[in-house]
Amino acid sequence: LFSWSSRPKSFTTAETYKEGDSFELKIKENLADAIKNEEFVLFYQPVVDMKTGRISSLEALVRWNSPIFGFMPPLEFIPICEKTGLIKPLGNWILNRAMEDGKKICENLEYPMDIAVNVSAVQFEGEDFVSVVKKNLEETKFDPTRLYIEITESSLILSLDNILNILKELKNMGIRILLDDFGTGYSSLNYLENLPIDGVKIDKSFISKIEEVNYKKSILSSIISLVKKMNLDAIVEGVEEESQLRYLEECSCTKVQGYLFSKPIPITELHTLFDKKIII
Ligand code: C2E
Ligand code: MG
Ligand code: MG
Ligand code: MG
Repeated sequence: LFSWSSRPKSFTTAETYKEGDSFELKIKENLADAIKNEEFVLFYQPVVDMKTGRISSLEALVRWNSPIFGFMPPLEFIPICEKTGLIKPLGNWILNRAMEDGKKICENLEYPMDIAVNVSAVQFEGEDFVSVVKKNLEETKFDPTRLYIEITESSLILSLDNILNILKELKNMGIRILLDDFGTGYSSLNYLENLPIDGVKIDKSFISKIEEVNYKKSILSSIISLVKKMNLDAIVEGVEEESQLRYLEECSCTKVQGYLFSKPIPITELHTLFDKKIII
């Protein structure tokens, strides 16, 4: 279990929190109300197209602005939401808000912008995920061909057939699928071959320290070339340094994402990124 004393520095202490309470339990207790009270907010991080040097999409990343816990990153509460089933109402809210935001963003731009939404495998279970997506598309009038759904391979170990059918239905609606955190889960190559995906997000652990550890460059370039040979987009996450970007150019990587370009930011700050060439 998490403990309050070992919480990340970014957490603010709250009067309501009693020292000694189990952090996980405390989060669980507050989640349902938090969804009701709209305490969640979506930040957006740009993905840059290596060919044009411009932003081609925005990944929606949820944060919890909790009056009790402070500003909370997703890795602290998404796993708990998955365990408790609360990821369904939260995931529904995330889809809806991302499409609403996406609609506004697209309306104010002269070039196309895609929106990427992370989805947990738990959201695929039970109730019909496809109709949840359809309902939100209808409500928001968001263009499905502008939508990417990001799924993580580590969450795909269960019921591949089920997931395959859902992905096929989403594809038929014009939605594109990305395999997230590639290389960190199981049976990666099997998924590349058998799932109807459009691109692969290569986990940030592959780009980190490429200058220091001598074999890392070869691993990364091999993954990129494999992905591209399968006619899929190769998106590298976690690009922080200019030297990493230069290496990715050598590898003919398709897209990049990382702090070098921008951290995830609120929708109101996105205008600072648009219309400027990110990679020069
Ligand atoms: P992810 O989908 O792989 O998202 C990328 C994560 O890497 C984000 O962390 C982002 O802030 C971080 N990142 C991006 N560039 C860099 C970089 O250059 N350096 C470093 N060190 N990190 C970078 P974040 O926002 O904390 O999200 C973590 C994970 O939480 C996400 O990983 C995703 O699995 C999950 N998550 C976030 N939002 C959602 C959501 O709306 N729904 C679901 N189901 N999961 C979400
Ligand atoms: Mg993602
Ligand atoms: Mg990732
Ligand atoms: Mg992830």
